[in-house]
Amino acid sequence: MDNNEKFNRVAGSLIGFACGDACGALVEFMTPGEIRKKYGRVVDMLPGGWIKGRLAGECTDDTQMALCVARSLVSTCGEPDYKDMSDRLLEWLDSKPKDVGSACRRGLEAYRKTGSLCNGDDTTLGNGGLLRVLPFALAGRTWQEAMGHVELTHNTSLQARAVQSYVLALQAASAGGDKRDIGMEIRGIGIRPVGVKNNRGDVKNSLSSALNWFFTTDTFEDCITQAVNAGHDADSVAALAGGLAGCHYGLAAIPERWSKALDPVVRIEALELAVLLGKF
Ligand SMILES: [Mg+2]
Repeated sequence: MDNNEKFNRVAGSLIGFACGDACGALVEFMTPGEIRKKYGRVVDMLPGGWIKGRLAGECTDDTQMALCVARSLVSTCGEPDYKDMSDRLLEWLDSKPKDVGSACRRGLEAYRKTGSLCNGDDTTLGNGGLLRVLPFALAGRTWQEAMGHVELTHNTSLQARAVQSYVLALQAASAGGDKRDIGMEIRGIGIRPVGVKNNRGDVKNSLSSALNWFFTTDTFEDCITQAVNAGHDADSVAALAGGLAGCHYGLAAIPERWSKALDPVVRIEALELAVLLGKF
């Protein structure tokens, strides 16, 4: 694979993740029926949602946390430095973001107090750990290394299985594998691509839904649009789906109206990080 194709996939993945987040944030916690009633069908990156004053193209904690991890990996030439990642996330928490998951907050506050890098809640069903692993996959690191960071906040076998599935799927996609190859990689791990009704943001349902939209659609745009209009944990599901779909279809497949509407600070930084991540 030449450098251009590699960049197209890595940048597609990071920008795809952010686009899914920014599209889905509009309808997080809404049912598909409520979305239909209020918006018809969401196909654009609109302002609004439950986060007060949210602008069009503004991302949520999902993208902000993933970018902290990506920055850390770039600063250490792709070698995971768990302390550096935790420090960056703590700094982000102290910047008073509009939205922070409860297990992420607990894990980071425990890190502040004790310096321990493994405060993972062993009962949480949340998906805040899984949402931080995409840069590991793009930097060519293993799912076990990604899990070493996730344990800062989330430490269940279900979280580990989701991390394993997502990292393996991303690696297969970034190596140029087709959907069959990607499906083979994650067979037997226990997170299957299935449509989930009433997904409340637990890690298994979020990834199952994201995989389902990826495998049952044929374009980046359709994948994200389906994930968004299914509502519930729409920002996280569409971010996870967008990360994988962006890696598979490439940057050029992301609709221009979305990449243009995306928060320019995120877009520019994601492209800069992609240049470096793709070289590791
Ligand atoms: Mg979010």
